[in-house]
Amino acid sequence: MKFVRIVQTVMCACVVTFGVKAQDIDLTQYVSTLQGTDSHFGLSYGNTYPITARPFAMHAWSPQTGANGEGWKYQYSKDKIQGFCQSHQCSPWVSDYAVYSFMPVVGDLTVAQDQRAQKFAHKHEVARPHYYEVTFDNGMKTEMAPTDRGVHFRFSYPGSGDAYLVIDGYTDMSEVKIDAKKRQVSGWVNNQRFVNDSKSFRSYFVVTFNQPFEDYGVWENVDNKIMPGATSGQGKGYGVYLKFKRGAKVEAKAASSYISEEQAMVTLQHELGDKRRFEDTKLEGQRVWNNLLGRVLVEGGTDEERRTFYSCLYRSNLFSRMFYEIKADGTPYYYSPYNGKIYDGRMYTDNGLWDTFRSQFPLTNILHPTMQGHYMNALLAAQEQCGWLPSWSFPGETGGMLGNHSISLITDAWAKGVRSFDPEKALKAYAHEAMNKGPWGGANGRAGWKEYWQLGYVPYPQSLGCVSQTLEYAYDDFCAYRLAKMVGNDHYATIFAKQMYNYRNLFDKETGFMRGKDENGNWVEPFDPLEWGGPYCEGDAWHYIWSVFHDVQGLIDLFGSNKRFVEKLDSVFTSSNEVHPGTYGGMIHEMKEMQLAEMGQYAHGNQPIQHMPYLYCYAGEPWKTQYWVREILRRLYNSSPKGFPGDEDQGGMSSWYVLSALGIYAVCPGTDEYVIGSPVFNKAIITMENGNKFVIEAQGNSSSNVYIKSATLNGMPLDRNYITYSEINAGGHMKFEMSNQPCTTRGITREAAPFSLSK
Ligand code: CA
Repeated sequence: MKFVRIVQTVMCACVVTFGVKAQDIDLTQYVSTLQGTDSHFGLSYGNTYPITARPFAMHAWSPQTGANGEGWKYQYSKDKIQGFCQSHQCSPWVSDYAVYSFMPVVGDLTVAQDQRAQKFAHKHEVARPHYYEVTFDNGMKTEMAPTDRGVHFRFSYPGSGDAYLVIDGYTDMSEVKIDAKKRQVSGWVNNQRFVNDSKSFRSYFVVTFNQPFEDYGVWENVDNKIMPGATSGQGKGYGVYLKFKRGAKVEAKAASSYISEEQAMVTLQHELGDKRRFEDTKLEGQRVWNNLLGRVLVEGGTDEERRTFYSCLYRSNLFSRMFYEIKADGTPYYYSPYNGKIYDGRMYTDNGLWDTFRSQFPLTNILHPTMQGHYMNALLAAQEQCGWLPSWSFPGETGGMLGNHSISLITDAWAKGVRSFDPEKALKAYAHEAMNKGPWGGANGRAGWKEYWQLGYVPYPQSLGCVSQTLEYAYDDFCAYRLAKMVGNDHYATIFAKQMYNYRNLFDKETGFMRGKDENGNWVEPFDPLEWGGPYCEGDAWHYIWSVFHDVQGLIDLFGSNKRFVEKLDSVFTSSNEVHPGTYGGMIHEMKEMQLAEMGQYAHGNQPIQHMPYLYCYAGEPWKTQYWVREILRRLYNSSPKGFPGDEDQGGMSSWYVLSALGIYAVCPGTDEYVIGSPVFNKAIITMENGNKFVIEAQGNSSSNVYIKSATLNGMPLDRNYITYSEINAGGHMKFEMSNQPCTTRGITREAAPFSLSK
C-alpha cells in the first residue's frame, strides 16, 4: 500500500509541477507574444510586436495598430487595429518589408486605414506564438494561424451589417487580381528598404477563400479610391475588397513567394493544402512550438518566471529568418536579396549580428546546430552574391552598426562542432572584410580599416564610435585567429594574431577606461566617462571598458590585479546613473532605459555591457556574478508588455534571459565555453538535437538562495566557473547546491576562470 501511494504522489507531482514530457503539457500557454509591446519612440520596453509565426518562419503575421510604413507596428497602448499584416520586421528602427494586410469590415465599406480601424480591448485578445485572436467591439472576430510561408485566417462576421474584407497593398507598388470563380486573389507587393537589388524584388501572394464573393472590386490606398467590379489593378498601394454573405465564417489561406506567383501556389498547396481546415493549421503550429519549447523543460521557479522564460524562449527562435522556399520536388531554393538572382539551396536573413552574436547564436548552437550549418553556408553564399559578409541583413545587407561579427558566428559554429561549411572560404571572406570598406553603413567591410591596421586603433574624430570599433575589431580578429588555428591555417593565424591585442592600445591606466585617441596617439580631451557618443557607439566609457570578450585576463592585467578589476566592476553598479548625452545632443531611449533600471551605469537595455556581470567569474569572485545575474533577471525582465529593459533586438535580449536563467552565458563566442551564473529554476532539462539530455539542477534554489555553495558535473566536483559545449552536447548532469550566503572558497583560482588569451 505504502509503495503504491508513493508512486501516486510522484505521478501527481509530475503533473502538478512541471511535466517531464513535452507532449504532456501545452507550453505555448506560457508564452505571451505581447511581451515588450508597450513601447514607443522615446522609451523601449522591448520594441517588440506580437510576432505570430512558426519558428524562424519566412513570413510572420501580426495585428497592426500603426499606420502603413510606421515602425511601431503594434503598440499595446493603442485601442484600434487597422489590419492583420504579413511582417518581417526586426525592429521599429528599420521598419518592415514585403507587407500586405487583411482587414474585415462590417457595415458600410470603408477602405482607408484610419477609417476601417476598429476598437478592441486586450481582454478580447489571445496572443500565442502559433495563434492570434481578437474580437473587436463591433463583434467581428478574427483568428490567424501562420505556417512557415503562409497564414490561415478565420473571419467570423457578426450577423448584422454587410461583411467585407479589405486587402491592403501597403506603401509601394503592387498588383492585384481577382478570380471570383476560383474564389482567389493574387498579386504582389514590393515595399522594402534594404533589398540590394530592389528592382527585381517582389513578394508574390496567392489567397484562396472557402466562401463565394457576393461583390468585389479594386482600390488604391493613396487617395482611397474604389473601383467597383474591377478584377485587376496595378499601381501604388493597390488592394482589393471582397463582400461575403452577412454573418459568414470565412476561412482564407494565403502564401507568399519572392520567386513567382506559381511558387506561391506551390507553397499554398504544400503548407495549406485543399482539405486543411483552420483548426488543423492551428494545432499543427501548436505542436511545432511545443516540440521546440519542450527542448528546454524547467521545473520550479514561480509561474511568472516560467511565463517570462518561455516568452523569451519563443522570441529566441524567430530570427534569423528562413529566406528560402521549397520547390514542388521538395528541394530548397531562393531569391537572393543581394543580387536578385535565383539559387538552389538555403538562404537566411533578417538579423543584426551586433545585437545577436553575444547571446542568440550561442543559444542557437545548443538548440539547432544543423540549422547553424545551413546558416554559415548562407553567410558565405551572401558574400559571393554581394561581395561582403552580412552584418545586418534585412533582407539585403544594410551594413548597420559596427564590427564584422559574422566571423564570431562562423568561429563559434566551428568551435562547437558544426562542420558543414568551408572554413577556408570563411577566412578568406573575413580577411577581405577586415581590409576593405563596403558601400553600405559602417559594418560592411570596416570603417577606419586602414588606420586600424596602421595605428592599431581607429582614431578620433575621423570615425565616430572609434573606441567601440577598435575593441570589436580586435575581438573579431581573435575569432579569425582562432578559426585559422583550429583548421591549421598558419597564414591567417599569423596575420590576425597581430591584431587581437589591439584593445591594449586604448586603455588609459590613469582613468581606468578605454579612451579615444587622435591619429597622433593623444587621448581625446576633455574626457568625461558619463558622456555618450563621440568615440563610443550607443554608450559611454563605462559600457566599453569590458568589450575584451576574448582576453578578460589581459584586461585584468591592465588594471593590475583582480582586486582593482573587481573594484571597477563593482563601481559600475554603485556609481550614479547620470547621463551626459554628448554627441547625441539629447536623450536617446537607451539612456532613459539605463536610468530606469537603477543599476548605476549598468545599461542592460543595450548590448555593449550585457556580458559584464559574468566577468567576476574571471577574477576570483564568482558569487558577485551569481548575485547580479539574479538581480537582473528578477528586476529587469517579466512576461508583460513592459517585459524588457530596452530593445529586444531579434532574440538578443531574450536569449540573454534564457541562457542566464539556465545558469550559463557565452561571454566569448568563438570558444566552446559557457560561463556559469546562477540558474533561476530548480531543474532544467535541455534536450540536444542528438537526443542527449543535459540536466542543470539547483538544489535549495530560491529567490534568496542565489549563491552556488558547491557544484558537480556528472557526480564529479566542479570547481571551475564554466562548462564546455561538448560537455553539454554529450548529455549529463550539472548539479549545484544553492545557499543564501556567498561561497568565497569555490571557483576562485586562476584555473577556475573561463577562457582568456592571457590565461
Ligand atoms: Ca540594442
